[in-house]
Amino acid sequence: MERDLAGMGFDTIAVHGGVNLDPSTGAIGPHIATSTNFAAEYGSIGFSAEATVEEEVPFAYAREGHPNAVQLERKLALLEGAESAVVFATGMAAISGLMLQVLSPGDHLLVSDVSYAGTAELARGALRALGIEVSVADMSDLDDVRAALRPNTRLVHAETPCNPSLKLVDIRALADVAHRHGAELCVDGTFSTPAVTRPLLLGADYVVHSLTKYMGGHGDALGGAVLGRAEPMDRLRREAGVHLGATLSAFNCWLILRGLETLPIRMAAYARGATQVARFLENHRQVVSVRYPGLPSHPQHALAERQMNSPSGMIAFTVTDHERFGRGLKEQLRVIYFAASLGLSRSLILEARTADLQRTTFKLDEAHLRRYRQWAGDGFFRLSIGLEDPQDLCDDLDRALSVL
Ligand code: PLP
Repeated sequence: MERDLAGMGFDTIAVHGGVNLDPSTGAIGPHIATSTNFAAEYGSIGFSAEATVEEEVPFAYAREGHPNAVQLERKLALLEGAESAVVFATGMAAISGLMLQVLSPGDHLLVSDVSYAGTAELARGALRALGIEVSVADMSDLDDVRAALRPNTRLVHAETPCNPSLKLVDIRALADVAHRHGAELCVDGTFSTPAVTRPLLLGADYVVHSLTKYMGGHGDALGGAVLGRAEPMDRLRREAGVHLGATLSAFNCWLILRGLETLPIRMAAYARGATQVARFLENHRQVVSVRYPGLPSHPQHALAERQMNSPSGMIAFTVTDHERFGRGLKEQLRVIYFAASLGLSRSLILEARTADLQRTTFKLDEAHLRRYRQWAGDGFFRLSIGLEDPQDLCDDLDRALSVL
């Protein structure tokens, strides 16, 4: 029996959503159900993979759905204000699954000029090879978006804040532009999470997440999700879930379910820590610029205040001597790791050099490269603030900056 959480607060849903008392044991937390198969009545399941999703059995074969995935999907849908959710083995499986579901050869995908490298590379590589037209727009500039839309634009894909440069997108306004044109909007909410922004409530058609980051929160489980209206999510489950087969394991679902219980308090703590670190960086004489949505100096601070419940935990900053600072990191940092990924309890730093991104990932035309450089210069460092004492993080960065 599902508990009735109607009208309850976000924090309560984060704890209780999707997870109900187990009638067989009275357990108030979820068991891990690792069985790949589920017994059924004679005649109730058949050989078709796709049909099992529609059969009148709760579960048949775990690739098509299993108890821990259902719990996680239910919790995510409640948190995001979505009709339905489908979870995947990784964030990239969620993104590629959705794109292959929505886009057909001859369709046009309009993707942000700055997006997670995997998404940018997928769009420019495999999707183009399948005959899907792909082009980019600066999603923070609606005129640029309007100019880039084509008669066959089917999907607009944006991130906010975007990875890695922390530009923001006005979701309500972008959804309006996309819809007027007959296209759908997908927002990657990995950097914000539903504790910060809920894109579906602002008009987006789909939200995708890398659950590997803030949502799971502990850096011990890969995962991804797509959320949206029930009908397209059912189709996505039948197509990507069943046929592409990137199912999220029961154990990872269980880890992410556990992580989500503390999402609201973690997001508040990340924002507190990141605000302190961003202010410290902004006042440091070897720091040239800081991009953090919580600082009044962020060019879209007003949008951040309107659209984000809190500024999240990601910071981008440039220093007086990028090379020297980068070379000194290993020696100087005692707390922060130089590592990929983000949204964990441990603080991480990574560099984003414009020339490298341009060669490997973004490959922007002249006009968009100029825009990118105006925001990001030749490159910057991206910080994912963890749950350590923010003063220790400031001390760490102060040591690293002292080599300059
Ligand atoms: N979306 C964003 C914004 C990301 O930063 C990432 C990974 O860094 C992904 C998607 C991909 O997620 P995953 O690594 O879980 O496949």
